[in-house]
Amino acid sequence: MHTQSRAHSGQSLAYGPRNYAFAEYTTALNWTGGAFRPGATGKSLPVDNPRHGKAMGQVTLSDGHDMQAAVEAAQAAWPGWRATPIKERAQVMYRLKALLERDLDELCWLLSAENGKTYAEAKGDIEKGIECIEFACSLPNLAAGGQIDVSRGVNCQVSYEPLGIVGGVVPFNFPVMVPLWMIPNALVAGNCFILKPSEVVPYGAMRLAKYLQEAGLPDGVFQTVNGQQAAVEALVDHPAVQAVGFVGSTKVARLLYARGSALGKRMLCLGGAKNHVLVVPDADVDLTAANVVASSFGCAGQRCMASSLMVAVGPTQRIIDAMVAVARKIRLGEDMGAVISAAAKARIEGYIAGAEAAGAKVLVDGRGATVAGCEAGNWVGPTVLDHVRPDMPAACDEIFGPVLSIVRTRTLDEAIQVENANAYGNGAAIFTTSGAVARYAVERLESGMVGINIGVPVPREPFSFGGFADSKFGHGDLTGLDGYRFWSRPKKVTSKWAIQADQNWMN
Ligand code: NAD
Repeated sequence: MHTQSRAHSGQSLAYGPRNYAFAEYTTALNWTGGAFRPGATGKSLPVDNPRHGKAMGQVTLSDGHDMQAAVEAAQAAWPGWRATPIKERAQVMYRLKALLERDLDELCWLLSAENGKTYAEAKGDIEKGIECIEFACSLPNLAAGGQIDVSRGVNCQVSYEPLGIVGGVVPFNFPVMVPLWMIPNALVAGNCFILKPSEVVPYGAMRLAKYLQEAGLPDGVFQTVNGQQAAVEALVDHPAVQAVGFVGSTKVARLLYARGSALGKRMLCLGGAKNHVLVVPDADVDLTAANVVASSFGCAGQRCMASSLMVAVGPTQRIIDAMVAVARKIRLGEDMGAVISAAAKARIEGYIAGAEAAGAKVLVDGRGATVAGCEAGNWVGPTVLDHVRPDMPAACDEIFGPVLSIVRTRTLDEAIQVENANAYGNGAAIFTTSGAVARYAVERLESGMVGINIGVPVPREPFSFGGFADSKFGHGDLTGLDGYRFWSRPKKVTSKWAIQADQNWMN
């Protein structure tokens, strides 16, 4: 039996600094049944501040016992929540939006501290999450179902019902936005939701739990269970959990999709990416340089929509030169944050060294970069590698750091082939001033999200987010109306009400 932790009861969770200074923060506990509780393992992991390279707090580790407690609390809460009208369920989301806006500044600094991203990037993280909340607020108007008379006196109607208890597993790179890809739609649909936050950045999710309570959500409707593989597997395997959304690496997405599907669960697992940006000679030089650099080095390249490979078609040297000039102006620590861990830094630098040894030319070298006063941080500066061959690891693998590899081709068809040969299919983009060239590429690129003169072609609400190939396992997308459909099931009712010829009110 768990005991409620006194660590957070009634106590402010406000994060202290309003700057990049190092500060300690509380232990991230599970939020189950309306209280913060330590995991049953009794163990915890340090939560590192990547900018400073040292622990700012701890996160509790959980196992099947904690998942069982969460499921029982959800089972107790679900009848009341599913019976709450959808318009009332959506009201919680209006209040959640207001609370996030109230504390935006403080939350940005907390997210920046746990993730290493800059303040501006943390603001984007939360604001994009708020858009997902706004979409869920509109569900009572969008999700009305439908009905028609399909025959004389026979009516067919469809309405969407919640699945019951559902869950989500999320990555480190967007501590608030990615959980909000799932939570608002799933809750407004009438489900109880159990989140397994990233153990690397557990604080954003911890704060969401508190805000949802403050917004009036009944206990047990939203819960968090922190930890690693054991907590994830307990969620996916629990017989009462009907559906699981996952966002993270392809390796884990593939594993969990297979695991949950074998149990007959509804699974939607978004994986990694290697996003190609095709640049043709007629592209606008300044626009292309600015957009490709922002896409490749924003969030230190730790975005599933970052362009990590540029295919330069034909004579594009002046565009590459302009890009290099823009990349060199990036101020590490101000415009670009730290990467998530020392292990990530070592992995990224390994790819740079490997490409260089295999003949790539290092146009901008981020190795050895550091930030004064934060020398222990996990720093890698913007890196541009030219003359990378499509078969090199730097061209094939998801490096997930601030590294842009340039592959050169003679024709657009060759460039499209390079993109399509890659195992991933999350995002792709083309930079051109020709509508015909753009259309030709868009029709042939095999990625779920394609940009024209946009380096990060994330479909904003009400459109749905999701890739192709090894970037997604499962059917449909995770946000927008597709997301709502994932967390609900259609019930069709066919009815015939007619007064019979041999009946009247008197007999
Ligand atoms: P990750 O796959 O290592 O971890 C994601 C989640 O899975 C975490 O909560 C983690 O605890 C859990 N996990 C890790 N190993 C597990 C295992 N063996 N069994 C069960 N659960 C396990 O990913 P990450 O490093 O946190 O995030 C980076 C990755 O996420 C990148 O590949 C990035 O492209 C991807 N990502 C994809 C999208 C998308 O929409 N496609 C969005 C954001 C991030």
